Amino acid sequence: MDLTKKLTLPGKYCESLTHYKRWLTREVQIGDVPMGGTHPIRIQSMTTVDTMDTKGSVEQTLRMVEAGCEYVRITAPSIKEAQNLAEIKKELLKRGCKVPLVADIHFTPNAAEVAARIVEKVRVNPGNYADKKKFDQLTYTDAAYQAELERIYTKFAPLVKICKEYGTAMRIGTNHGSLSDRIMSHYGDTPEGMVESALEFIRICEDLHYYNLVISMKSSNPQVMVQAYRLLVEKMVAEGMNYPLHLGVTEAGDGEDGRIKSAVGIGTLLEDGLGDTVRVSLTEEPELEAPVARALVNRYVKRAEQVLEINYSQEIVTNSKLIVENLGSRHETKEVNAFIGGSMVPRVVADLSNKRLIDPMVLKDIGYIYDPLLDKYHMGDQSVDFVFFGDNLPSFTMPGNLKQVYNFATWLGLTNKENAHPLYTLHDYINASERDTNLNLVRIFHDDLESEAFENLPMDQTLVFVLETRQLHGMADQREFFVKLRSWGLEMPVIVKRSYDPVEFSGPVGDMMSPEEPISKLQLYAATDLGGLLIDGMGNGIWIDAASIPTDKLASASFAILQATRSRISKTEYISCPSCGRTLFDLQETTQMIRSRTNHLKGLKIAIMGCIVNGPGEMADADYGYVGAGPDRVTLYRGKEVVKKNVQSADALNELIEIIRADGNWVEFA
Ligand code: SF4
Repeated sequence: MDLTKKLTLPGKYCESLTHYKRWLTREVQIGDVPMGGTHPIRIQSMTTVDTMDTKGSVEQTLRMVEAGCEYVRITAPSIKEAQNLAEIKKELLKRGCKVPLVADIHFTPNAAEVAARIVEKVRVNPGNYADKKKFDQLTYTDAAYQAELERIYTKFAPLVKICKEYGTAMRIGTNHGSLSDRIMSHYGDTPEGMVESALEFIRICEDLHYYNLVISMKSSNPQVMVQAYRLLVEKMVAEGMNYPLHLGVTEAGDGEDGRIKSAVGIGTLLEDGLGDTVRVSLTEEPELEAPVARALVNRYVKRAEQVLEINYSQEIVTNSKLIVENLGSRHETKEVNAFIGGSMVPRVVADLSNKRLIDPMVLKDIGYIYDPLLDKYHMGDQSVDFVFFGDNLPSFTMPGNLKQVYNFATWLGLTNKENAHPLYTLHDYINASERDTNLNLVRIFHDDLESEAFENLPMDQTLVFVLETRQLHGMADQREFFVKLRSWGLEMPVIVKRSYDPVEFSGPVGDMMSPEEPISKLQLYAATDLGGLLIDGMGNGIWIDAASIPTDKLASASFAILQATRSRISKTEYISCPSCGRTLFDLQETTQMIRSRTNHLKGLKIAIMGCIVNGPGEMADADYGYVGAGPDRVTLYRGKEVVKKNVQSADALNELIEIIRADGNWVEFA
């Protein structure tokens, strides 16, 4: 899909693209926990145990509430599960828990109509509420399309009336992977189709004077997800609507990748003041999701007050229209001597300026493994491109592919400058007695654009900016820099640098932190701050500066951010569902097993989905799918095509590998 063609946003999709301001939505009552308006951004998640297991569902719900969930969603695949929600609710109330429950519905209006009388909110997916997906590319005449809308009205209206009568809220939750054939025929699997899919249902609700709605636009591809929400807001504003937004990236996976993919999508929208509730979908225990969501959301609790004092001069304030015009298309730059820029993938910079540089093994953390027997380095798909040494001189021979960067004064004193390049301040660069003939890196901030020094800057072909920020609302600050540069026709490459103080990773005073928590927060913050730019094609390189985080984690996070924004593919991508009461195998274990045999297949997207009911629809743009078809049975997919049905679980991975091999996509381990 060519996103740049589909995603031009001529209008306005958020309150401010330069200052932090939350989009004010309509307040929606969900039990005792209202959402939207000026209420805090709510945290929620979904149970994974069988809904018929009352005790298990209650225990898990209590753990999720303890972890910070303000709403708990439970799947209701049929009437019997919908009815059992009453038992779960009763038991929770007995245990003193009044958390609002949300019934998750796919394909079963009759279950929705039961659940809506019991719980505080129902979630329907417009792609499968009134439609059974056949993956047919049918053409609809205008009359046939209209007849379809009338059919949907008849099927959906009873649920709306029940919700109205019982004071139940509703989420209209569109998923990129499960758009109806009708929508696909008109719009394809585009953000526009996702938005229209929700609007069809919203208009029915409004026709019935029901407004207790929350809307979501999820996708496993953060780029699609971000553009769909932006387009949704724009369309809602045009139609006079302001329903709260539920933010989420579906099937994000687990560990670092799951956190980074989620943050790229959710964080980018939070930066623009969008979002009233967040659900992070990880293939991990559901109680691990709320702290991740909380870490994402907490950055915005006070941001509006904290950034109000920042005032740029009028000359450098870029208007929103200019920013909007620049979103979604790549920031074109010149290539600098085959090092960076142009059509090259974004570069990764690592900082070893504070390390002891006496042993080549120190480079292992940034992807260069020294072999003392052969006296050579091995590198892989995640070897960084530039290393910053500051004023620190290594006492060993460096790999030929790794470009070294030194502070200007130190670089000036090097006797051998081969593969070594200077980093200057603006002032140093202007006044330098000697410059590199190949690559000169200059540190710059947004407000430097109006300085006298910038006016005097020699704009030669070797210049690359290292863009930093001093602002709390840093993504918007750096985004304005890019827009300004482009509007002036300046095409030098830009490495985006973000620096994090260890204080940013700490919790409330007295809070016990696990050793992983600062790493997890770094992943979330950097993915938001850098991902928000990369997703809009801004940035020729990234540099994460966080002295308190191990170097290997910083390098790994950098590559994961580039992968999640689809700007540089360096590994296999796993699209695994978070699991729920429908799941037919242990998703965490199965994901690990599949990963252990396939994680060298760079660029392939493999989906691991817990059930055949939703799995195939939800896995959107995966190359291969491993989908639970029944107890001990797995169905294997190539894209959306079924290749092998009902394979025994014990054989399924080998069979999947055979399919990949037959397609010519298998490579042996190096
Ligand atoms: S795909 Fe996974 S999360 Fe979605 S309904 Fe099936 S088992 Fe549940």
